[in-house]
Amino acid sequence: MQKIMSHFAHKNFRSAYLAVLVALVVAVLVAALSSCDGKQHDERKTTPAYDINMTYDDETHAISAKQEVLFLPPRNMTENYVLFRLYANGMCADNDAIDISSVKINRQSAEYEICGKDNTLLKIFCAPSHELLGVAFEYEVRLPNSPSRLGYGDECASLCFFYPSLAVYDDGWRQDEFSNVGDPFLSECADFYVSLTMDASLKAAVSGKTETVSVFEKDGKSYKTLEVCAENIRDLGLVVGDFSSLTTTVRMPSENVSVSYFYLSDPAPNDTLIRVAQSIERFSDAFGEFPYPAFCVAECPLDGAGGMEYGAFATLSPASLDVYLDAATHETAHQWWYSAVGNDQLNNAWLDEGLSEFCTYYFYKLNGAPSRFLSAMSNISASYGDFASVMRPVGFDASMARPLSAYSSNGEYVAVAYQKGALLFENILSVVGEKKFLAAMKNYYSSNKFSFATAESLASAFKTQGFDIAPLLNGWIHNKDK
Ligand SMILES: [Zn+2]
Repeated sequence: MQKIMSHFAHKNFRSAYLAVLVALVVAVLVAALSSCDGKQHDERKTTPAYDINMTYDDETHAISAKQEVLFLPPRNMTENYVLFRLYANGMCADNDAIDISSVKINRQSAEYEICGKDNTLLKIFCAPSHELLGVAFEYEVRLPNSPSRLGYGDECASLCFFYPSLAVYDDGWRQDEFSNVGDPFLSECADFYVSLTMDASLKAAVSGKTETVSVFEKDGKSYKTLEVCAENIRDLGLVVGDFSSLTTTVRMPSENVSVSYFYLSDPAPNDTLIRVAQSIERFSDAFGEFPYPAFCVAECPLDGAGGMEYGAFATLSPASLDVYLDAATHETAHQWWYSAVGNDQLNNAWLDEGLSEFCTYYFYKLNGAPSRFLSAMSNISASYGDFASVMRPVGFDASMARPLSAYSSNGEYVAVAYQKGALLFENILSVVGEKKFLAAMKNYYSSNKFSFATAESLASAFKTQGFDIAPLLNGWIHNKDK
């Protein structure tokens, strides 16, 4: 989030989905064979696959969907249930945005329970299993009338986080409280195959590659169906509205990136598109190639924020021109830090937000304007110092590794996760020098791509360049005073 302070062109996605199913079954077989040599293997860990068939009604602002998620339960799972997150419930006032009519496991009806703060946990009961599971849902989601990550307004509707999302498993299913501060979402990378039907006059901006497969009339109204393929993403981004659009291609050594920008009232949409493309180029040179074949950015109002990151997708919220461009850079940086390299953003938000905020301004240095980077970091330092000194008499906690619910306000979260986080990365850069910094960050990216990173992963990446930054990191992360 940014705060204010066609190789599928002719592919049948259903076939792609079946291919994934086959791949998962093969993975299980590989695991069975591998276990014969008596060693522990991770071959079971494959990417979950979501198949979602959905219709969006722009008159009632409701989604009706059938969804199946194929995944291998964790080998160490001991619970008698699998856990999904119902983020949609956390994002509406009465915590009942989603109405589930059916849940099946491997085509058999399953018992389930909606629980947790804000009704964001969905426990689906089953015998502990280590075999491939197909969990199928039928549900409806009513969008709130609000400029939020799930909600509609006059110009567009944001359909993000509408679907049951497989929870992350560590030593048990992660059951973190939903929070209204920060980004209370945590997902493994997964492959999404989505069929979306809606009014033919609407445009959809969505993660991954999209193709319109049919246009038809029903009850005197025109509809169209789009098929979407987005692989190795954590969260599906989707907004619909009456957008204008621009596209470009960013050339990469291995796979070119198709970039689309869907806009509403951006006064200089071409500048925004160029900034997104430049950010992809500069960060690819600096950290490693952009992780996806397509990146879609859409303008959609979002209360209290300049934008929001999703997998291979981002939104920008209408704001002043400078903020637009910096938000575009910030959300593009999140494709490296959050989407490809995941982290526990519920407890260590600084790791993706601090780094993306740092990259927002480091972009200027990479793009040939080093003084602009220095002045931006100086402004961040002054702003952070001012906030800390004003808040200290009434209570200010500068520690960085803590749950979103432990922040006293959005202001404290922005100061600590974004500003102090960005200053931390500037400090590392100044200590190790730019050449080693970039080499270490390339290592951090390639070593943790499509997985989860921690502060220890960051320290390991700098160890490859001969620096032990663990004491520096600990000093910054655990200092409660400044
Ligand atoms: Zn962010």
